[in-house]
Amino acid sequence: MKKYFQNIAIGALSLIKGLVVTFKNIFCPKITLQYPSERQSMAERFRGLVDLRVNKCIVCSQCVRICPTACLSLSAKLTEEKKKALESFKYNMELCCFCGLCEQVCPVSAVYLNKIYEVASFNRQDLYIDLLNPEKYVKFVNPAVK
Ligand code: SF4
Ligand code: SF4
Repeated sequence: MKKYFQNIAIGALSLIKGLVVTFKNIFCPKITLQYPSERQSMAERFRGLVDLRVNKCIVCSQCVRICPTACLSLSAKLTEEKKKALESFKYNMELCCFCGLCEQVCPVSAVYLNKIYEVASFNRQDLYIDLLNPEKYVKFVNPAVK
């Protein structure tokens, strides 16, 4: 009989403890987001996908050379003014380890890691990115997000 009332007391105590936590949190500011209509803004140092400011690139290839996983490749052509210009710039996201070395070494801040974090795809080909295409990451940003 004593055990029976002990169990009731323990049960009541744990219920009260749980309710205290609940009531404390009822009045706290909400920290959850209604994803995907709301998105987390990423920290300044967050490293997302490799991206390119095409007009800044001087085609020095330092980013390609330093990449530890060889996921960047570019080709260049000579313009009529005998200057180098980008012909193609490919990024294989499948191999990228998001180390940020390409961003660090670029002398003109042309290559950088953006804030996109929704990088899942059902199609492997989606992970081979043409960095010269301005629409390249549209498919990775959740369409439910405006
Ligand atoms: S973040 Fe690192 S692995 Fe990815 S492309 Fe840049 S250097 Fe290569
Ligand atoms: S390091 Fe910068 S400037 Fe040089 S090729 Fe790469 S993106 Fe272009």
